Amino acid sequence: MNALPPPCPERELLLHGLADGELDAANALAIEGHLRSCEGCAKLYAEILRHKKIVNDPALRFHATPRLRANILSAMAEVETSVAAPQTGQIIPLIEPRRWSMAAAAFSALALAASLILFVSSPVGTPAIDGELAAAHVRSLLAAHLTDVTSTDRHTVKPWFLGKLGYAPPVIDLKPDDYPLIGGRLDYIDGQPVAAIVYKRRGHIINLFVRPIGHVKSTSETINGYQILSWTRGGFDYSAVSDLDMPGLRQFQHDLDSALP
Ligand SMILES: [Zn+2]
Repeated sequence: MNALPPPCPERELLLHGLADGELDAANALAIEGHLRSCEGCAKLYAEILRHKKIVNDPALRFHATPRLRANILSAMAEVETSVAAPQTGQIIPLIEPRRWSMAAAAFSALALAASLILFVSSPVGTPAIDGELAAAHVRSLLAAHLTDVTSTDRHTVKPWFLGKLGYAPPVIDLKPDDYPLIGGRLDYIDGQPVAAIVYKRRGHIINLFVRPIGHVKSTSETINGYQILSWTRGGFDYSAVSDLDMPGLRQFQHDLDSALP
C-alpha cells in the first residue's frame, strides 16, 4: 500500500478559494498548475468538491411551510393592490410614495415576524431542523471535529457538558461492546448550542443531539442518505442521526431508552 502524501498546509486555504471561485486569475492558474503535480493537494481538492456537492444538495434546503408562503404572498398581493389602485386616466404617480413605504414596511415587518416565528418555534422533526441535524452530522464527519471531548468514560463527558451548556444531558454507557462511546461535542442547532454525544455502531457514527425539552414531534426521516430519529424522554429532546439503517437506529433508541434512568 502506498499512502498518498499529505496536502501542502500552506495551500489548503487556496484550494478552498479555488473551489469557491474566489481566487484571482493568477492565483487560480498557479494552484491549478500545482494540482497537476501534487497528489496530496489533488486528493484534498477532490474531497472539497465532493463535500461542496453534498452540502449543496437540495434535500438539505429548507422549504417554506404553506403558512409562511401564504403569509408572504398575501403581503405581496397587498402591495400590488396598492400599486394598481389608481384607475383614473390621469397621468399621476402610480402610488403615493408614503403608501409605498408603508406597504414596504408592513411587508418587511411581516417577513421578519415570519422568520422569527420560524427560528423561535421550529420543532424537532420539522424539515428545517431535520436539515440542520443532517448538516451538523455531515459537518462533524467532514471537519475532523467529531468530538470536543474524546472519552469512552461518561463520567468525563457528562461534566464537560455541564460546564459548557446550561444543562447536563444524560450520557449513558450503552452496552460498550455494541455502542462504544466516542465522546461529546458542542453543536449548534436551531440557533442554540446543543450537546452532541457521539456513539459508534459497527463502524457507523451516531450523533445523538440532546437538548432540553421543546416543541417536539417524534419523527423519523431520511435526508441525503442519513437517518434522523427524534423523540422525547424525561425532560430532553433526543435526535439520533446516522448512516446506520433505520431499524438499526430504532434499536439504538430502544437500547438507549431502556438504559436511561
Ligand atoms: Zn500540494
